[in-house]
Amino acid sequence: MTESQPVVLYRVEDATAVVTMNRPRYRNAQNSAMTYALDEAFYRAAEDPSVKVVVLAGAGDHFSAGHDIGTSERDIDKTFPRKAGLWWDHVGRPGAESRFAREEEVYIGMCRRWRELPKPTIAMVQGACVAGGLMLSWVCDLIVAADDAFFADPVVRMGIPGVEYFAHPTAMGARFAKEFLFLGERIDAMRAHQLGMINRVVPRAELESEAMGMAARIAAMPAFGLALVKKAVNQVEDVMGLQTGIDSVFGLHQLAHAHNAEVGVDSLAGQDARSMRDASRHQ
Ligand code: ZN
Repeated sequence: MTESQPVVLYRVEDATAVVTMNRPRYRNAQNSAMTYALDEAFYRAAEDPSVKVVVLAGAGDHFSAGHDIGTSERDIDKTFPRKAGLWWDHVGRPGAESRFAREEEVYIGMCRRWRELPKPTIAMVQGACVAGGLMLSWVCDLIVAADDAFFADPVVRMGIPGVEYFAHPTAMGARFAKEFLFLGERIDAMRAHQLGMINRVVPRAELESEAMGMAARIAAMPAFGLALVKKAVNQVEDVMGLQTGIDSVFGLHQLAHAHNAEVGVDSLAGQDARSMRDASRHQ
């Protein structure tokens, strides 16, 4: 895998656009370059009238290990043309202002934008779906997982109450969301299925055919009808408090980052990808 390969791949098969995160060497950790490339791909799929359904995939053995907090291509100090909202550029801003502006744009704003894509989206998940990876799967309408998939949000180790897009209680129920976040432990695909967090679990070898088969059957339905079904369910989730919950908890998330930065070495309590991975291995 060379650095010159695109961080997101895009192809159309019949009426399905397949958007693939393509940093397999880093378990598809999301840097801002990938975030904006994903946005471009989703926009392209939304615009193309021949595309009825979008499948989001991860190249290699893992869907996504989360946000990039440790590769050489981590780009949190780089300016990108903003797409999700009108917050000013975070680069060069001091303290919490920088983190708030950046995370409002690349995490909260982008996730909301992608959830509103007016075509059905299917996350096709194998291997790790951790923290920032969870957010990406949750904003898809359906989640189809391989039997080797696992899900975790271990950021309590950083003193942080979950990833930025706080959909945990909606995605898995309030009671289990607390266990999931208190322990930060992995749950496997079968457990996630029992919790109602994912739609289907299939053997790894059948993951792609299952997801693409569902996409093809959905694609036979009228596009406007599909868009209205999606909006109907999303609107009810919002009336039930999903979006206001995310906004209120985003304040707690920023408080945790700021507290870490005030009392310790950095806003992540000195943790990085390696230390988080090593801690998870002791479970
Ligand atoms: Zn954050």
